Amino acid sequence: MDSKQILAFDKAHVWHPYTSATSEEDCLLVEKAEGVFIELESGERLIDGMSSWWSVIHGYNHPALNRAITEQCSQMAHLMFGGLTHRPAVNLANALLEIVPKGLKYVFYSDSGSVAVEVALKMAMQYWQSQHKSGKNQFVTIKNGYHGDTWHAMSVCDPVTGMHHIFNNRLSVQHFLSSPKSVYGKAFDQSEMVPVSEFLQENHSHLAAFILEPIVQGAGGMRFYHPEYLKQLYLLCKQFNVLLIADEIATGFGRTGKLFACEHAEISPDIMCIGKALTGGYMSFAATLCSDEIAQTISKGEPGVFMHGPTFMGNPLACATALASIQLLKKNRYNTAHIEQQLKQGLSSLSNMEAVADVRCLGAIGVVEMKENVDMGAIQKECMRQGIWLRPFGKLVYTMPPFIISTDELSALILGIRNVIRKIYA
Ligand SMILES: *Cc1c(COP(=O)(O)O)cnc(C)c1O
Repeated sequence: MDSKQILAFDKAHVWHPYTSATSEEDCLLVEKAEGVFIELESGERLIDGMSSWWSVIHGYNHPALNRAITEQCSQMAHLMFGGLTHRPAVNLANALLEIVPKGLKYVFYSDSGSVAVEVALKMAMQYWQSQHKSGKNQFVTIKNGYHGDTWHAMSVCDPVTGMHHIFNNRLSVQHFLSSPKSVYGKAFDQSEMVPVSEFLQENHSHLAAFILEPIVQGAGGMRFYHPEYLKQLYLLCKQFNVLLIADEIATGFGRTGKLFACEHAEISPDIMCIGKALTGGYMSFAATLCSDEIAQTISKGEPGVFMHGPTFMGNPLACATALASIQLLKKNRYNTAHIEQQLKQGLSSLSNMEAVADVRCLGAIGVVEMKENVDMGAIQKECMRQGIWLRPFGKLVYTMPPFIISTDELSALILGIRNVIRKIYA
């Protein structure tokens, strides 16, 4: 098929994320990607401002990651994980346990972020079940969250942006507290813990766990909240015997300026989900980590096993690539401070514009929040002209570039963002 036919077939038969099958939107045909550049079939190159949704932290076509995956491929591409184990899975668990918050001791591998969240929710349920406290079977979260698209993960996503109404009231009902109001880097308003504390006091006997994204709420609104909220929430959960699940799928591996966002609040959750950047964005892979206490309690109780085991659990290619990705992060000392500084310097002037509600940057994330929903089509066309790739949603024009982006490439990306917004909203 020539490129015209490819695009026509794509439009007629291939579904893309969160789109209509009859969408008029034209996808761009990409031939390859290298470093921070996405190369189109026309030969045009776009600077990637999205890291393919938080994941490609070391850029595309990275020699070290390519080597890890091809070397592993010649050993074995896949192996069932029931009753068998292999070096990549064990070495990766070892590397992960060295860098995650201290209290986490067990690693459960799975195939995507949403599944890692399902696994976390099931762990929390089985933990209480094992102690004959089956009344503790509900979940609480905060508004504006995002935890994935499978059934139960979806039920703890923000009810409005997650479009709960589409599912005919079939999603299990969860508890939603207001999202934190105190923002990162500003003063903390102690009074916002009062309703949280009251809620936990009243409902703890029915609650299995509190699930939330630490510090940065991603796809539910790109909000950065105060670490003190997370620190106090952690203490309240301890006080009221409610497990804390940290969903680090977007924030993990250095994106927020710390290796894991929990470090901003110096807490260690009972259960933690990771995914997205775990393999440097090479493939779909995720993990749910838990404390010794959770693993032991589930294993000693009834039925004495944890009821989950995906076919591709611990896939050797994914494990080997993830291990190589962590080694790269270590070599570069997870440093994103220079990216944060450059994003702040470059984007802050946009906050003077009438159409802009807020500009905020944290780690390798830059967000320009508009006052009204953006016209995706118009923005995407202008991005093409500027030679950059962004994928805005709602009111949010945002970027989270690969960490390997050079100062010049980041300048070009920032200039592109400024030009796009100025051209459309001037
Ligand atoms: C992307 C994301 C998920 C879902 O991960 P998938 O791999 O897309 O299933 C869950 N939680 C958070 C915070 C995410 O950003």
